[in-house]
Amino acid sequence: MLLFTPGPTPVPQNVRNAMSDETMHHRTPEFEAIFAKTRKHLFNLFKSDEVVMLSSSGTGAMESAVTNLCHNTLLNVNSGKFGERFGKIAIAHGLGNVEIKNEWDTPVSVEDIIEAVKNNPDIDAVAVQISESAGGLRHPVEAIAKALKEINPNIMIIADGITAVGVEKIDITNIDCLIAGSQKALMLPPGLSILGLSNKSIEKIGAGKGYYFNLATEIKNQRKNTTAWTAATTLTIGLLEILETIEKNGGLEKLYAETELRAKAVNAALQAIGLHIYPKTPARSMSTIDDENASEIRKILAKDFEVNVAGGQDHLNGKIFRINQMGLIPTYEMAWVVNSVELALSKLGRREYDGTANKVFNEIFFRVAKVER
Ligand SMILES: *Cc1c(COP(=O)(O)O)cnc(C)c1O
Repeated sequence: MLLFTPGPTPVPQNVRNAMSDETMHHRTPEFEAIFAKTRKHLFNLFKSDEVVMLSSSGTGAMESAVTNLCHNTLLNVNSGKFGERFGKIAIAHGLGNVEIKNEWDTPVSVEDIIEAVKNNPDIDAVAVQISESAGGLRHPVEAIAKALKEINPNIMIIADGITAVGVEKIDITNIDCLIAGSQKALMLPPGLSILGLSNKSIEKIGAGKGYYFNLATEIKNQRKNTTAWTAATTLTIGLLEILETIEKNGGLEKLYAETELRAKAVNAALQAIGLHIYPKTPARSMSTIDDENASEIRKILAKDFEVNVAGGQDHLNGKIFRINQMGLIPTYEMAWVVNSVELALSKLGRREYDGTANKVFNEIFFRVAKVER
């Protein structure tokens, strides 16, 4: 079965092999050397002033960002489940909370953010997804961050990049905290999350907040290539392996360019067979289709064509399906995925099969790619 859900994503064979060695003790020079190399790669990926790895799923990094960077009121953007989560974290910790809510296909506007911040002087941090995975939506985070810093340079900008870091180049000039998670674009099993931090955010963190998720404690240790608590040694070894693999494959720029081109080719192929792209501003991390037969299409894809794509949650349950674009994806696999969707439509009697999806996908992906190579 081809795993094409936007998280978890498939773990490459060489990464699984790297993680199959005997468990290493975390307080050893051997592990510290691996940790140091991994940190170096992460600085290249995040381009931030500091990076911190945590043994937790992505939500742990979201929680540590909110508790350490927000001391008063958090503004969160709810255009989906993950954005909503930031508000729930703030409330759980007794922080003030203001939320901007939109339908899951709609990006937040810079104007709405600015207005909320001007109306609520208590807001000292803003949290937003770069790619909101619930509906495959891209928020204009860079523009939001720039506008916010112009009115208040002390406001903290927390950007959840769990389905964006490793997918596209992110301008972090005005971002204080950029979050990634292992099981999405980084092609690893779940259990590791990473924060890229600005110097300004480190000032605000000060002595830190909380215990396990106290970022000051972690920064102090990780600058010495160790961790405050037991490191996720196996996942760190896997992370180093995948980051080295990306380098060997031509580096981040190539990965970003291929991801963009493939997402474009898939979206065009699906539109060419009459399907509709759900988000108004699609993220590159996934292709999201809203369709009255979304459930049936997913079932046919799994049963007849060995393709596993994700559905929707909450009110979008049965109404959308999402095809992963994150990671090092073999082109022939994606060609099969779009072809399978076309075959599924023909099984449902919606459209006679004529190979359009595959043709459009290949034309866009290979014609453009040929020029670039
Ligand atoms: C997956 C995901 C998360 C984190 O979820 P975990 O299950 O805690 O790893 C957060 N934000 C986005 C946008 C995600 O896609």
